[in-house]
Amino acid sequence: MEEEKDLQLEKSAKRTKGPYRNFPMVPRVVFGQGSFDQLGEILMPHRNSNEAPAIYLVDDVFKNSALIDRIPILYQDRIVLISADKEPKTGQVDDLVSTIKEDFSELPSAIVGIGGGTLLDLAKAVAIMLNNEGSSSNYQGWDLVHNPAVYHVGIPTISGTGAEVSRTTVLLGPEKKLGINSDFTPFDQVILDPDLLHGVPKEQWFYTGMDCFIHCIESLNGTYLNAFSQSYGEKALELCEEVFLGDISDADSRDKLMMASWHGGMSIAYSQVGVAHAMSYGLSYLLGTRHGIGNCLVFQHLGEYYPDGVAKFNEMMEKHDIQLPKGICANLTDDQFNTMIKVSMGMVPLWENALGKDWAKYITPEKLRSIYEKI
Ligand code: NAD
Ligand code: ZN
Repeated sequence: MEEEKDLQLEKSAKRTKGPYRNFPMVPRVVFGQGSFDQLGEILMPHRNSNEAPAIYLVDDVFKNSALIDRIPILYQDRIVLISADKEPKTGQVDDLVSTIKEDFSELPSAIVGIGGGTLLDLAKAVAIMLNNEGSSSNYQGWDLVHNPAVYHVGIPTISGTGAEVSRTTVLLGPEKKLGINSDFTPFDQVILDPDLLHGVPKEQWFYTGMDCFIHCIESLNGTYLNAFSQSYGEKALELCEEVFLGDISDADSRDKLMMASWHGGMSIAYSQVGVAHAMSYGLSYLLGTRHGIGNCLVFQHLGEYYPDGVAKFNEMMEKHDIQLPKGICANLTDDQFNTMIKVSMGMVPLWENALGKDWAKYITPEKLRSIYEKI
């Protein structure tokens, strides 16, 4: 009885009664070139038995690559290659969880995600759902998860989203695109090995990197800003500027972008994102536009809200000779515009952060449509 009470207390510690959020952070992190090779040693003390495997969810871009051979397979461990062409879905998470439960007699000792935001989010969601009943779509929202996740490890291979530090895993469900935001979501361990960023195509490097840059701009210019967020946001912004506008070596650039992503993620943890994210959610919901490029497509037209940020963004685009696609919204129907506008206007905390409590005075369906029409 006492024990049960303690457990309850421990669980409810996440929901402090006071005004300030009690924010969980990634408790362990390794940083350094080649640190991926420490994975075996890191997992060892977490192995529960020979029957409780480590499951590696790996971006299938690494199929047949040397990285696969470096994965420290033991006992019944399994590598699952997954395409990152589509953003993660609740059904996909549920399928992965039921396959794992059917194929092994014990719960996994570890879930390891290796890839970008897509694979990191899948790993977090699978780890949560192995210990929680029903469909992952039931947990999209805030603090709906009851039981701690299976031990999970995140290993980014492209940098910018901050998914490696965040308290959410963004999933496309039957009704909504929304994260499982919970104290059990953050990774138990992250391995930051800048060497893994080798081979990211330039456009994708830019789009995912700009996610970080935009996190900084939206956090630093938001009404929710506080010294906690500002300290991380300023550092991340400085690193982004070195990476995208400076003259540094490729190796330095990989190191710095990895740390920019980390700090950018920490910055929004205690504040919020803003206009670009709110509108890019609409694009993503209707058209399946990926997060990184979607943010760029919107952000280029937000000079009115983020004049300095957009000017820097344009400089970065020019320096790296990036051409964003045009005419994305050219042939949409009124209904389609309205769907995007509705999804976007539903992101209340983002608008509130961007423009203050009376944001709705400035953000009307007509206003949003006029921006979407430019994309
Ligand atoms: P991604 O994981 O979708 O990958 C983008 C592309 O890069 C894919 O084609 C992938 O195969 C490729 N790639 C990744 N690493 C590579 C490498 N080393 N070499 C060659 N190709 C490589 O990209 P992303 O932008 O990191 O993630 C986007 C996802 O992250 C979205 O699903 C978004 O919802 C999510 N997200 C999550 C959070 C969070 O806090 N949980 C925050 C922002 C975005
Ligand atoms: Zn983002």
